[in-house]
Amino acid sequence: MTGFNFLDVGFTYRSLQEELDAAYRAVMDSGYYIGGSALAGFETDYAAWCGARHCIGVGNGLEALVLPLRARGIGPGDEVIVPANTFIATWLAVAQTGATIVPVDADPATMNIDLDGVERAVTPRTKAVMPVHLYGAPVPSARLRALAEAEGLFLLEDAAQAHGATDGDRKAGALGHAAGFSFYPGKNLGAFGDGGAVVTDDDALADAVRVLGNYGAREKYHHETRGGNSRLDPLQAAVLSVKLKHLDAWNRRRQEIAAIYAEALSGLPGLTLPQTAPGTQPVWHLYVVRHPRRDALRAALDKAGVPAALHYPVPNHHSGAFRAELGHLSFPVTEEICATCLSLPIGPHLSPDDAREIAGRVAQSLRDL
Ligand SMILES: *Cc1c(COP(=O)(O)O)cnc(C)c1O
Repeated sequence: MTGFNFLDVGFTYRSLQEELDAAYRAVMDSGYYIGGSALAGFETDYAAWCGARHCIGVGNGLEALVLPLRARGIGPGDEVIVPANTFIATWLAVAQTGATIVPVDADPATMNIDLDGVERAVTPRTKAVMPVHLYGAPVPSARLRALAEAEGLFLLEDAAQAHGATDGDRKAGALGHAAGFSFYPGKNLGAFGDGGAVVTDDDALADAVRVLGNYGAREKYHHETRGGNSRLDPLQAAVLSVKLKHLDAWNRRRQEIAAIYAEALSGLPGLTLPQTAPGTQPVWHLYVVRHPRRDALRAALDKAGVPAALHYPVPNHHSGAFRAELGHLSFPVTEEICATCLSLPIGPHLSPDDAREIAGRVAQSLRDL
């Protein structure tokens, strides 16, 4: 029986090898290994693709969240609302600024941050809300924008898993005041190493992020503020420019696979399929199902040549990083998701026939469980 790969980051390289090799060759020949036209070109293209005015390349996705928070002056004494159910980077970004992390539990249907919970969590100290479009599924943004407007909050999207996802006629990256993207190799748009970007319509914020990521300097050796070093390499930018042209097609393939799974797996006993918010179009970075006997199902799938993964097995408030400070809190929906979640293979490396075969093996494994 053939086995499938959960993820195949080499697939995009093999399928575009000539174009990619020429793109980074051109950077090598240019003699510009920081900044330069390859970086500027990608920033222009990616901002336009997201429907925003600015894109600033940064070192990685974590930095793409830290820098906008810093640029807005968020720090000790301020509160930032984040989902309890997210990859730990969302929380670490807040922790790095010294601000207080205020987690909100997930909506059990979408597994994304619960919007009633967000409204209840706002206090006079709240400075920012960070919705995470987890698994590539957008958090509905109209209500969050209204809340941010009414309370004077900074709305920062963690769009690390959501390149191209839409809410109504807007794309992730243009749903709040600013967004952080990751170009980690396994993301829907991935570099051949680390990379990230901040996307925003706000001229002043874009300028501040650029300065903070460049040693606090706008002009070389004139350091206005204590910045850091967080830049997107032009080599990675050149790779990303090539891949960006194919991203819509890759995302459509993910949507096609998700539709095949949704149809083939609906109504199977004990299995909960992912639900997305009305009016949104996810890009399915991950396809996360839930099952009470998750570990047994995962073992059976592994035997059947269908590797599945866990996103994420440990809730952030129970992790070694945050247990001492936040371990006393309880987020029952998030805890349940962590205990029952199972990510099925999805990505442009799989064909629709592969997806039908995988769905068949999932159904068979469930019957035999
Ligand atoms: C990947 C990811 C990040 C961090 O991105 P890096 O490039 O790995 O630093 C942040 N938030 C979420 C939700 C992610 O999935």
